[in-house]
Amino acid sequence: MKIQIADLAFEPLIKAEAIEKRVKAIGQQLNADYQHCVPVFVGVLNGSFLFIADLIKQINIPCEITFTKLASYYGGTTSSLKIRDDIDFSVDIKGREVVIIEDIVDTGNTAHYLIDKLKVKQPTSIKLCSLLLKPAAVQKPLEELKYTGFEIENEFVVGYGLDYKEMGRNLKDIYKRVK
Ligand code: 5GP
Repeated sequence: MKIQIADLAFEPLIKAEAIEKRVKAIGQQLNADYQHCVPVFVGVLNGSFLFIADLIKQINIPCEITFTKLASYYGGTTSSLKIRDDIDFSVDIKGREVVIIEDIVDTGNTAHYLIDKLKVKQPTSIKLCSLLLKPAAVQKPLEELKYTGFEIENEFVVGYGLDYKEMGRNLKDIYKRVK
């Protein structure tokens, strides 16, 4: 069923049940991959707040969770190259294994920016976990991207935490823009 958010129409792309199943599978993979240590999960707000919450409930190994807030869309439907960086989190990640949790990798600029910033703090490893990936939009290879929920086409999506003009974050399913 089509929905309207502000001036744009959207149609369903990924149903809540499929998201739930995939998030569980990623959680199991993280439990297995990080059982040798106490990883630090870095959630990137705002768009990934539901993904972080659902994913973290699947983690059954000791872990720490912290947040940072980055933005690059500023209410539009295309990625801007300027990244706004709102929170400089305080957890000491030196010598720690870090997993960044992102809502979506589009151009990859936000992820590269955050990874470069975290590398300076000398963690043992940094991996990226993104619910969505737009392979056709990625501008530079992103070798840290180890966990991906769904690969999607180069289209604008909302729902499950992702917004259009700050609306639509509450939707259970993910919708794509009707062209
Ligand atoms: P990148 O830096 O990879 O181009 O973009 C990453 C950020 O842009 C994401 O964390 C997200 O906030 C925003 N973004 C990218 N694609 C979409 C999209 O299709 N829908 C929404 N709502 N935000 C997006």
